[in-house]
Amino acid sequence: MCGCGDRHAPGEPTPYDVGRAELATGRRTLLKAGSGLAFSTAALAAGTGAADARSAAAKTRKRVYVLVVDGCLPEEISGGQTPHLFDLMVSGQRFAKAQSMPIMETIPNHVMMMTGVRPDRSGVPANSVYDRKAKIVRDLDRSSDLRADTVIERLNRRGLRTGTVLSKEYLYGIFGTRATARWEPFPVLPITGHAPDEFTIQAAMAMVEDVDPHLMFVNLGDIDRYGHADITGPLGAKADRRLALAKTDTYVQRFVDLLKSRGLWKHSLLIVLADHSMDWSTTNRVVSLSGPLDDDPVLRGRVQIADNGGADLLYWTGPTAQKDDAVRRMLRIAKAQPGVLSAHDRRQASLRLGPEAGEVVVFCRSGWRFSDPDPRTSNPIPGNHGHPATRPIPFFLNGGHPSVPRYAASPLVAQTVDVAPTVARFFGLTGTPRGGWDGTARI
Ligand SMILES: [Zn+2]
Repeated sequence: MCGCGDRHAPGEPTPYDVGRAELATGRRTLLKAGSGLAFSTAALAAGTGAADARSAAAKTRKRVYVLVVDGCLPEEISGGQTPHLFDLMVSGQRFAKAQSMPIMETIPNHVMMMTGVRPDRSGVPANSVYDRKAKIVRDLDRSSDLRADTVIERLNRRGLRTGTVLSKEYLYGIFGTRATARWEPFPVLPITGHAPDEFTIQAAMAMVEDVDPHLMFVNLGDIDRYGHADITGPLGAKADRRLALAKTDTYVQRFVDLLKSRGLWKHSLLIVLADHSMDWSTTNRVVSLSGPLDDDPVLRGRVQIADNGGADLLYWTGPTAQKDDAVRRMLRIAKAQPGVLSAHDRRQASLRLGPEAGEVVVFCRSGWRFSDPDPRTSNPIPGNHGHPATRPIPFFLNGGHPSVPRYAASPLVAQTVDVAPTVARFFGLTGTPRGGWDGTARI
């Protein structure tokens, strides 16, 4: 089943299509009898002059596991609530000032983790964008949306095995067939579009046993999804979310226990981080820009809005000659709305979002959310992210490899974009992407 549905361009095979074709041609790995899990795999090129070098590289015993606890706040990692994650954090290398990057959404930050470059170089600035060619607002969930090289592909070219175990359909979509082994999220819950962590961690453990990837990239979506939906969130109770945190904590420990029992831990670097945190708003703290923008005679009917929860992206669809005037009007109107924190010309150098993010980027204040185009129905969920209030994230390293620092706390500001250069340095990959990394190796 493809939750991406008909939003794919006609003729473009989805990763689900590719997986089915691999199954039909016998290229998909079926796991041990009884597990019921299947992974899609890509055949490694062989028989060329570079094959020897690749096979030599593949003999390394090093392993990297990147575990994303989606939407987790730094303060939610605590001895009482998440004792296993807390122990991993304090006994390894922690970065207390770590940050998500604009737009503080799931897809762009996972892409930054694996590319090591900012959205103006990857083509992926947000979850939701206005696609000027197709003339629709859509998620960036197509493999072709991601234009930068990933550390997954860099390792593949060295003959190393890579695996993606991503709980959300749109993440499975954008990373597509890049990893040598991919798990299709299943079963996927309706509405949330994600597989529960219990199934995701089971798939990750099965992939370790069956494929033993050198790099595994895992997204655990429960904490985020229960945060979005939790109506007790704004009141401070966050009952469902606390339960999700406690469960996910035990799943992570189960995964670590497997690595230890299989002798993999002592060669491993474990990177645990979130892609963004979470902020909660009540129904009387909703910003909707479509009405005020439509009240302006120049902007009326000529602005498209991509709602990203805590950030609205505004796209001018009128004549190019009027664009500068339109941008000024959008900025002025957006800044005047209650609940708006700031509005920016997208070309502002520090944002580094690229043209896919439109003309104007608007962030809401803490405790607010956007709902566009419809103020009541477009975004009814209490938990949101995308705005600066959701920038702080947990980020720490652990693992049994001797290069992992012990009981260390760094004052440096680690960011999601640092993951790829950290992975590259750990494996001793030489060379950088054309134009260099935007992130910094943290090991
Ligand atoms: Zn997320």
